Amino acid sequence: MNLKSKLPNAGTTIFTVMSALAREHNAINLSQGFPDFECSPELIKLASNYLKKGYNQYAPMPGVIQLRERISEIMHNCYAATYHPDTEITITAGATQALYTVFSAFLQAGDEVIVFEPCYDSYIPAIELQGAKAVPIQMEYPGFTINWNLVRNAVSTKTKMIVINSPHNPTGTCLTASDMSELTTILKGTDILLLSDEVYEHMVFDAKKHEGVACYSTLRNQSIIVSSFGKTVHTTGWKIGYVAAPSFLMREFRKIHQFLVFAVNHPLQLALADFLQNELNYKDLKHFYEKKRNYFKSLLKNSQFKLEPCNGTYFQLLNYSSISQMPDVDFAKELTVKYKLASIPLSVFYSSKKDDFLLRFCFAKKEETLEKAAEILCRF
Ligand code: PMP
Ligand code: GLN
Repeated sequence: MNLKSKLPNAGTTIFTVMSALAREHNAINLSQGFPDFECSPELIKLASNYLKKGYNQYAPMPGVIQLRERISEIMHNCYAATYHPDTEITITAGATQALYTVFSAFLQAGDEVIVFEPCYDSYIPAIELQGAKAVPIQMEYPGFTINWNLVRNAVSTKTKMIVINSPHNPTGTCLTASDMSELTTILKGTDILLLSDEVYEHMVFDAKKHEGVACYSTLRNQSIIVSSFGKTVHTTGWKIGYVAAPSFLMREFRKIHQFLVFAVNHPLQLALADFLQNELNYKDLKHFYEKKRNYFKSLLKNSQFKLEPCNGTYFQLLNYSSISQMPDVDFAKELTVKYKLASIPLSVFYSSKKDDFLLRFCFAKKEETLEKAAEILCRF
């Protein structure tokens, strides 16, 4: 059959590749980002109760109202922002679907979208599938800061959207108030949309504040916020996320959402709505992961790897340039196959495949897993 691929250059996502390699070689898996511990038993109980009570048919298209109300409360509580549960919040099948739906709803062929690299691997293919063009801007290493002059120069009449992600996967850095002010100046008075991927919103460390787009009333009116419960309540396998945006944008979002997924897992939405009534179930997360970050760092303090700053997410970057000059993809594979520890090489998140000899390690793991991983890393 003469089949024309819509993504001729796409291979298999690095998360699948590295997790499969870890399984094949029986390696400790700090590659793909997911916890190796259970979510709260209370959440499991709520979910199983809703299954037993018969909530096993379609949920309403935009999501159950109880969960949309809960999200609205959380956004008010954390960011002093008002998002109306009826018209400004929609529940999605995880953040990946939410992001795809946003690109599909708002991009036309020929539009340009500014993304910052290293960049989460679903963005660029999803942009290109709409016939739009990603315009990557590299963040400056070390530090992974954004040079806003580069952004100003990249904005053109074709720019339809800017995508930000803070706390940032894969670097573990966070945007600052000064970044948000630069962004506000660039967007003011334009028709450019801001897509803000905030799936790690409750994981910002060292008493710093999450600079969510919802905190900025001037940005809110042209922004779409995407988040996910996978990280917040340790249920990446549930694939439930949400989008918050002003109603005129949400109307367009839902036009696509209804035909792409229609509705999302019903009993689990109800369980999440109950579970998140207790604000400790999201407000404590930053302390929980800050401890894990600190523990992992302490285990590596005598290693030859250089630890990059991690201010948020559950990812720690390690620079191995004093150990080897091997390309990062090869080094990550060798670390998995020979040393039985899987990580994610950073170059795959750059269109240029820029290689700074960095590997990403997920520290959403039990202490004993982190100890075993650190023991391997300290052998170098
Ligand atoms: N955006 C970022 C930055 C992520 O790290 C992830 C996955 N962890 C997603 C989106 C996708 O989230 P989900 O699993 O809810 O689709
Ligand atoms: N977001 C997770 C990570 O960065 C994994 C997502 C995925 O496997 N697609 O590791």
